[in-house]
Amino acid sequence: MIGLFDRVFRGSDEMYARADEVLNAAIARHGTSKPIQLPDTAYNMACSLAYAGRKITNLGELREALDHIKTMMTREYRTTDVFSTGIATAMAGEVIEACLYIDNNTPYEGTPYHGHFSDAEVRELGVPLVTNDIPGFVVIINEAPSDEEAAEIIKGYQTRGIFVFLVGGIIDQAVRMGMNLGFAVRAVAVGPEIWAVSHVVSFCVRAAMIFGAIQPGDWDGFMDYTFWRLHAFVNPYAPVNDITLAMGAGGIAMGFPAITNDTRDMWRVPKTLIIQENTKDFIETSLEARDIKLKITKVDIPVAFSNAFEGEIVRRTDMHVDIDGSRVDCLEFVQTKQLTEVEDHQIELEGPDLDEIEPGSRMSVTMVVQVAGKNMSPDFESVIERKFHNFINCAEGIMHTGQRDMIRIRVSTDAYNAGFRLRHLGEILYAKVKSEYEAVVDKCQVKICSVPEKNKEIREMANVTFDKRDARLASLTDESVDVFYTCILCQSFSPSHVCIVTPERLGLCGAVSWLDAKATNELDPSGPCQIVTKNNPVDEQLGSYVDVDEAVNKYSHGALEHVTLYSLLQDPMTSCGCFECICGIEPFSNGVVIVNREHVGMTPLGMSFSEMASMTGGGVQTPGFMGHGKHFIASKKYLKAEGGCARIVWMPAALKEQVRERLNATAKQLYDIDDFTDMICDETITEDPEELLNYLAEKGHPVLEMEPFDL
Ligand code: SF4
Repeated sequence: MIGLFDRVFRGSDEMYARADEVLNAAIARHGTSKPIQLPDTAYNMACSLAYAGRKITNLGELREALDHIKTMMTREYRTTDVFSTGIATAMAGEVIEACLYIDNNTPYEGTPYHGHFSDAEVRELGVPLVTNDIPGFVVIINEAPSDEEAAEIIKGYQTRGIFVFLVGGIIDQAVRMGMNLGFAVRAVAVGPEIWAVSHVVSFCVRAAMIFGAIQPGDWDGFMDYTFWRLHAFVNPYAPVNDITLAMGAGGIAMGFPAITNDTRDMWRVPKTLIIQENTKDFIETSLEARDIKLKITKVDIPVAFSNAFEGEIVRRTDMHVDIDGSRVDCLEFVQTKQLTEVEDHQIELEGPDLDEIEPGSRMSVTMVVQVAGKNMSPDFESVIERKFHNFINCAEGIMHTGQRDMIRIRVSTDAYNAGFRLRHLGEILYAKVKSEYEAVVDKCQVKICSVPEKNKEIREMANVTFDKRDARLASLTDESVDVFYTCILCQSFSPSHVCIVTPERLGLCGAVSWLDAKATNELDPSGPCQIVTKNNPVDEQLGSYVDVDEAVNKYSHGALEHVTLYSLLQDPMTSCGCFECICGIEPFSNGVVIVNREHVGMTPLGMSFSEMASMTGGGVQTPGFMGHGKHFIASKKYLKAEGGCARIVWMPAALKEQVRERLNATAKQLYDIDDFTDMICDETITEDPEELLNYLAEKGHPVLEMEPFDL
């Protein structure tokens, strides 16, 4: 029987030989000066960047990097050598995969494989990770014992919220079983060969750099971060060959245990290399090994219910019904009632159900959720209501978009055939509202109506409340409230980051408004949203308060001393990494460029979102660059210290459309300018700084009259 260490060493030799061959062939074809760049990342070749501190830009540098990788494959029979060899194996795997991307940004196009993850994808997981919507990650390698079992384990992890990466034969099995795979359903077919695991390692180390501000080359920092912050593990099915075992050694070095059913030439290592011969028990054994505790809300519906299905799309051809608020009267609405007026868990349906309509047709449906509780406040109605989108989307085969009276809900034919009916929408809302808002909601009942004439009346009634709520929200300003709130949810990934949430500045992820923070504080008084008084203003133009400084100092554990709320240059708020947008100074115009996460192109700064985003994050202050939410752009407090939103000179066209109405209204109030958004340049006009300046001059943009930045 060959020893475990020897198998790892042999596997790493195999990986190195393969990488050497692939790289030599690439150099022979293109030469050493040929640039190499993985798409949409500011952390090119992230594995080498993280573990060796090497930034690789061309094939010559990649050759040097591979030579260095060889030196990491040491051959002493000590744990450190096995770990170093395992990480080096993953780095060699990255070399092989990166060579696929020479001259081709989409080498896996037309296949089921995802390959490289963009920085935007890494960042997209920031919020679900901190909220524990994704409690962990699993990498499943090789074929499961049968196609049915492959589908079962993937679905089993999905329904528990675990993000699934698939490598090798199990992907073919999932495809044969007709499974829906992809980032949106949190089950990603990474690649066909074992070296594709390097994309997952790259994903993890970028999370450490983006959210944890771990610096390239800080070996211990990466090990610490991946062990404590990323709850990952590996399920390699038998037979596990040497090269997979060598990759597994890298995973174990990162703190990710491997749970396998292979017993041949395999050794049990407590807590790290676990043999579970019954593959049906992989999930339970793995969750226990990684100490992952799941918060499960029991929802009484006939389809699966998990965060993994949140991004699922139901196409017209696959739907049984289209509840479409843009064409017929539809609504979702939370109403506060007296305790005596609500019968807990009563779900009423008035009107026809899904089996009484023509398949594929449109339907008018309203859902009124009536809640009562001693601590319930009408201010929480909109907070609860906005979560309906997430709640309903968690049901497999149900797609929800929009809010209030502009909702769309599609129920797929599969969900209908599984028995899903209108009252199940009520079951979802009841279960989630009661479990997530238990501190304020004592009783909850749901009234669903599918009678078009009645829905017209219900909609009119609700619109009166919506108007009142909007007026209340508009009256909420930083000056009109007595307190702000912290949000430190992201500290599980970004240990020193603190958001200060005010009525006019929501959290930089875009998901936490002042009302959300207030509700969170009342739901969980010792939780992430703590009250920040504002009794001692220092400079209201900057948004500088003694109380705010004390709060950030306390909640960043001393990492931060001063934070201003309205300045980009003086002690700007820190960024954790999951911000919706980032802004940066554009020196030629004395303005700022804003770019949102979804935009993949360049900006006039010569940087993409990923590159700008890499300038900040991890809870550090970077004057001149700042992450923020989309909603903040149209706030009167946006860059107030630097002159306000009139500093905005460029943003992507799609983002302009999203903020146009509110931004125009703000610019009108602040500067008496009409249609300000049209003065802002975008990628359809130019990404060149000189042409940008010409455009601003042509439009008479107010930034040209403003003082230069005080840098
Ligand atoms: S408000 Fe800030 S700390 Fe809270 S989840 Fe959003 S980005 Fe993270």
